[in-house]
Amino acid sequence: MYSSPPALEKLVQELSKLPSIGRKTARRLAFHLISGDREKMEDLANSILNAKNRLVHCTRCYGISESEICQICESTHRDSELLCVVERASDILPFENSGAYKGFYFVLGGVLSPLDGIKPETLHIPELVERIEKENVKELILALGSSPEAESTALYIDRRLANLPCKRTKLARGIPVGSELEFIDDVTMLRAFEERVRV
Ligand SMILES: [Zn+2]
Repeated sequence: MYSSPPALEKLVQELSKLPSIGRKTARRLAFHLISGDREKMEDLANSILNAKNRLVHCTRCYGISESEICQICESTHRDSELLCVVERASDILPFENSGAYKGFYFVLGGVLSPLDGIKPETLHIPELVERIEKENVKELILALGSSPEAESTALYIDRRLANLPCKRTKLARGIPVGSELEFIDDVTMLRAFEERVRV
């Protein structure tokens, strides 16, 4: 029986660990990569390593940045009374692209899932509460998607902040159940944002 050369098999294996990449796609990508010229492959390998070496989490919002404080957090043209809570750093992009939002962000790093051992302390929830207590945030927009875990995370945060004078809102309907924020088109995002409701 034929088996792939070990180097090819290893590449397929590594590629198939990436999100949304099944074994079949991994194999196609692997063949595409090895059939290209060496220079292109080096560019790809180097840009992956370079990204890993240079990018860090912003110490203020936990988004991705090349410096300790990211560009968004450093901006003086944003509304400091608005804070938008997202699950992952990649969720910031659809908000920025829609142009609907001019406040700041806070990346939780996931959503609560007690069965998987993801508790409030595993996420940046204590840091979020501390920031709301210290700063003049008037509205916290919980943009955590609509999976059951995301919903219960939003509820948990809402309760934790119940005694603070900070309004909690969430995105309006229009986002399909279980969908990922990063795949939502700008118009849907704009509408969901403008029609946000209290948690
Ligand atoms: Zn930041």
